[in-house]
Amino acid sequence: MASSPNGAGDDVFDQFLADNGHSTERTGWKRDYNKKQCPDCGGLHDTSATTCTVCGWDPRP
Ligand SMILES: [Zn+2]
Repeated sequence: MASSPNGAGDDVFDQFLADNGHSTERTGWKRDYNKKQCPDCGGLHDTSATTCTVCGWDPRP
């Protein structure tokens, strides 16, 4: 499976924010195994997804 450099970077960046006390829960994807889960509708996506294709949720307005 080809992994996206951007996806991996997002993971590191999310961890960086979490380590520095910035909660990512409000705007971040939930994680389910190797998938992202939309916090709004619960739709599952690949880790390379940037927006929810089910409900259109976008963590970066
Ligand atoms: Zn959604």
